[in-house]
Amino acid sequence: MSPTTATPAATPTVENAQQPSVEFLAELAEHSARLESATPDEIVAWGAERFGNGLTMATAFGPEGCLILSILAQVSPETYVFNLDTGYQFQATLDLRDRIAERYGIEVEMLKPELSVPEYEALHGGALYKSNPNQCCFDRKIRVLHRGLAGRTAWMSGIRRDQSADRAQAAIVGWDKKFNLVKISPLANSTKKDVWTRIVKENVPYNPMHDQGYPSIGCWPCTQAVMDGETDERAGRWSGTGKTECGLHSVEQQGSGI
Ligand code: SF4
Repeated sequence: MSPTTATPAATPTVENAQQPSVEFLAELAEHSARLESATPDEIVAWGAERFGNGLTMATAFGPEGCLILSILAQVSPETYVFNLDTGYQFQATLDLRDRIAERYGIEVEMLKPELSVPEYEALHGGALYKSNPNQCCFDRKIRVLHRGLAGRTAWMSGIRRDQSADRAQAAIVGWDKKFNLVKISPLANSTKKDVWTRIVKENVPYNPMHDQGYPSIGCWPCTQAVMDGETDERAGRWSGTGKTECGLHSVEQQGSGI
């Protein structure tokens, strides 16, 4: 598949936070429909060509993020990629950042919240993840995400439609009205099997905790190994609380056929 040669509509930026024009939303919907049959590599290449250095990605070093990093190494290694370094990540996740850098030469920037974990817990009289995980995610992920996205026009995510009911409606390309920029999900229509087949075949570095019963890995206080028979890949995240997302990828896109 070759990228379109049509003249793109003007891209709104995070700074001006303007509503996208009807023409721009139509362009996104058109590309999203066209890219449904594209490979992840073609989708990433299209995003890099269309948005240039306006494109970024936030990664928690899940298998999908690692696979996209391996693709970026081929098609756009200069793309800015960052991690929301909450202070509560597993050591295996932090180590993976270095393994990716060694393998692909891509240095993922670790963006930290304003307050360290001891400062934050002292401010709140203890660990907020126990009493108010939504506030903790907002302070230690969402606020930091806004910083990482500042000045960008598009971001990529590793979400797949088959990951959870909440993600089943994700578009390949759409307008993310929560963060006021374009969201590209190159793996939206890939399956878990597709991702892992490629990781194994191409020897992409991944978190060894996936081999120890953790299908989805976030912060250590909010991640558990899942029981045999649990089918929702994100069942081990905020287990027993009813919370399923930290707020980054709740589907609130518009103009993308949703
Ligand atoms: S996942 Fe848990 S520890 Fe991490 S930011 Fe959210 S509530 Fe806090």
